[in-house]
Amino acid sequence: MGRTGKVMTCECGAKYREVVKEFDGIECPVMACPSCDDIVFTMEQSKRYHFLKKVEDIRREIKKTRRRKISRLGNSMGILLPTQLKDLGFEIGKNFDIQLVDEGTIIIALSSMDMAGKDHKLKTA
Ligand SMILES: [Zn+2]
Repeated sequence: MGRTGKVMTCECGAKYREVVKEFDGIECPVMACPSCDDIVFTMEQSKRYHFLKKVEDIRREIKKTRRRKISRLGNSMGILLPTQLKDLGFEIGKNFDIQLVDEGTIIIALSSMDMAGKDHKLKTA
């Protein structure tokens, strides 16, 4: 989390501290007053929250239609990805990494070179 270095003072006189709070299942850093529990978002925290909210909304949307079928693409196999993933950077022509977790599970993640500025969850072994 980037800090601005500015000290933010609450109306009650105490200084805000950065803490992680949960809103509707989304954990996000905010500035909280240790004295009166007032909460404010910095611009950066607000942008972070709205991004995490979008990810969560897409995650919930995809969960409703998560069953997919493997299709034939020439001599290869293909999987149609939910269109909502475009909002997260999964676009035609982008590279992705695939990892076999076990005999029935794969993980698909945007390649780190296509993930500038985003958290990359897939660990390479
Ligand atoms: Zn306060």
